Amino acid sequence: MTMNPSDVRSPTPSVGASVHYVSEGSPLLPDGSQRYPSVCRAAIVTEVPQIQVPEGNLASLCVVNPTGLFFRADVAYAEETTPGTWHYPCAG
Ligand SMILES: [Zn+2]
Repeated sequence: MTMNPSDVRSPTPSVGASVHYVSEGSPLLPDGSQRYPSVCRAAIVTEVPQIQVPEGNLASLCVVNPTGLFFRADVAYAEETTPGTWHYPCAG
């Protein structure tokens, strides 16, 4: 797959692409810590919605967790590891 450098900020996802999904993590505890912190998970793009929003490219994902799969529709793209978003695989 080739990526035009000008597309890096708003990549167009394609069905079947391997991406990262950033897990939500568990709710913050009273001391500000999380039992399960937000982490990158492997995910596969299952659908690219016809209607895209300017803020980010939406993709529906099959998220591959160590203990199971889950599915999310219309996940927003974010370059940063923002919980509940996807990005192209990073080192983490
Ligand atoms: Zn990542």
